Amino acid sequence: MRRGLPEEVVAGLRAVRDARELDEVECGHDAVLVTAFLSGWYLTLDGRVLTVSFFGEDVGVPVEASPVQRRRVVAIARRRFELPGLDVLWPVRGDGASDCVVCDGSGWQVGGTDVGSGEPGEMPCRGCHGLGWTD
Ligand SMILES: [Zn+2]
Repeated sequence: MRRGLPEEVVAGLRAVRDARELDEVECGHDAVLVTAFLSGWYLTLDGRVLTVSFFGEDVGVPVEASPVQRRRVVAIARRRFELPGLDVLWPVRGDGASDCVVCDGSGWQVGGTDVGSGEPGEMPCRGCHGLGWTD
């Protein structure tokens, strides 16, 4: 899915890219690595989410993420990169939506350990995939 990103988001993502050594997917697909766990998860500068498996038959071959995967990766990207313009990739809460009962509406759950800080980690909620609400 291509929605395009605002110029300030593209500039912000380019700054992220400029601050680190890029891997093959980042170079080949004009993307930024958002997170990695069993697979690499990338946000491209045109707003797509790609995943690259680290195991199995298709190792290293980027594929478009599923809608649920996409939502989870965008949730992480919004928090990690702090670029408000990424909201263009975020669904609008409908009038009939309810706060997610799994995460009490936060969109996040404690899980694993943040390898950078050693503190408990957080991941997008399994119930709402980071939205904080369900339809
Ligand atoms: Zn939730």
